[in-house]
Amino acid sequence: MLKLVKNATSNPDNQAIISDNHSYTYKDLLDSSHQFASLLLQNTSDLNETRVAFMVSPGFDYVSIQRGIWRAGGIAVPLCISYPLPSLQYVIEDTGAEIVIAGAEYAEILRPLAAEKGFRFIILPEVDKATIELKKLPNLQSSRKAMILYTSGTTNLPKGVVTTHANIEAQVSTLVKSWQWSAKDHILCVLPLHHVHGIINVISCALWSGATVEFLPSFSAEGVFGAFQKGKINVFMAVPTIYFKLISHWESLSADQQTQITDTLAKFRLMVSGSAALPVSVMEKWKTISTHTLLERYGMTEIGMGISNPYDAERKAGYIGKPLAGVKARLVDENNVVVKRGQAGEIQIKGKNVFLEYWNKPEATQKAFTEDGWFKTGDVAVVEKGYYRILGRDSIDIIKSGGYKISALEIEEILRTHPAIEDCSVVGVPNEEWGELVAAAIIVNDTNLDLKALNTWMREKMPAYKTPRQYKIVEELPRNAMGKVTKNDLKKLFN
Ligand code: ATP
Ligand code: MG
Repeated sequence: MLKLVKNATSNPDNQAIISDNHSYTYKDLLDSSHQFASLLLQNTSDLNETRVAFMVSPGFDYVSIQRGIWRAGGIAVPLCISYPLPSLQYVIEDTGAEIVIAGAEYAEILRPLAAEKGFRFIILPEVDKATIELKKLPNLQSSRKAMILYTSGTTNLPKGVVTTHANIEAQVSTLVKSWQWSAKDHILCVLPLHHVHGIINVISCALWSGATVEFLPSFSAEGVFGAFQKGKINVFMAVPTIYFKLISHWESLSADQQTQITDTLAKFRLMVSGSAALPVSVMEKWKTISTHTLLERYGMTEIGMGISNPYDAERKAGYIGKPLAGVKARLVDENNVVVKRGQAGEIQIKGKNVFLEYWNKPEATQKAFTEDGWFKTGDVAVVEKGYYRILGRDSIDIIKSGGYKISALEIEEILRTHPAIEDCSVVGVPNEEWGELVAAAIIVNDTNLDLKALNTWMREKMPAYKTPRQYKIVEELPRNAMGKVTKNDLKKLFN
């Protein structure tokens, strides 16, 4: 049996999943995933890497289906449940999915596509699991392709990232060990389940360890605190924007309610942030609320997690930590030469965790690796006292102005320390003379903020070439499903 499924069989009576007010054991999950696998194996003894796309709300069925696809030998393609039709169509067409599974709420949006494409269309409420004849499951090697996840599309059109079972096993086993997961853990899942953060770090690590995953039907700060206060949850993982929302909600509560939440959170074992840079201000505020120093880590669809702050040593604000066990990392310059100590360079990664290929994009796959097999992340970082610090993506966060390379992330950190600024995002806008100029979109909490005074304030904090030449006050920053600012959209605000 696949390691990712087998590891869960040692605790058959443990609680595996809580969703929609029901509790399911590991035995329930094994039975249910076997039923779904059998449904998929109606006309064959092995799916042989058939792509199976599924649009199902986070919960027991989602996990059963995902595991069922694996157990039947297929490639799981999770669809984002909040995508509009064109984005769903893009993924279904790009993967050439031959089977598509829809939860009740998603049948209608997918139905026209099913008629047009002719794939096998399975609508969950029409499936009577009890009547499915259980099939013998194929014996699978870990070199099999397991999943196609799409990148967040922050820099360009999302790319389909193919990982094998061996890749996922490597990604999961290193995190389980590094973050000391155990069967006693109980995690609340509020993340979308079409990205590694939700699928690998939350669900797969928990199920590998025999722990419990609890799902919230939909995200709200109130719902999250309510679930925490039931007193069972001890692990939480989220993106910075979620911590930001939780902080705002906590600040609106009465002193008594605040104390209750702080007391509950103080008993947690682990709280993690990732997917985008964690502002130091958010980390500090969360510490006062929860007593926890958030563990920030760095990862990508292509590598799972690569670099992480330590579980049981100092977690440094503004840093992503050190390479995880089994993951090799290096920093290189434009000529692919390893940079000198203390200098900035592109992060490159090697290890069993690294993906196999971009689906149907041999050229993109080839371009993504060096000749000696390092994966080029496109993210720029420096190492200071052994800890990696992200300066941003080479293509959008590293602003090239008058021969200088300026990190947008560094400027954002400084802007956020201004008392009138709630949040911000910095981009480079094209300029004939300088190549690019720094521009900042800011969300203010004081409408009297004088932009000239802000500029003077910034000039006192950093060299002139780094200070924004344009400021724009905005109500909101454009973000994708993972809460990442889509800077290519933001750039359009400036001229
Ligand atoms: P696309 O590849 O389609 O442009 P994407 O890179 O945002 O989208 P993901 O694979 O979901 O897609 O995200 C990986 C990226 O997220 C990393 O390359 C990095 O830029 C960013 N990231 C992840 N964790 C962190 C972190 N802790 N700090 C800063 N950036 C992070
Ligand atoms: Mg990317």
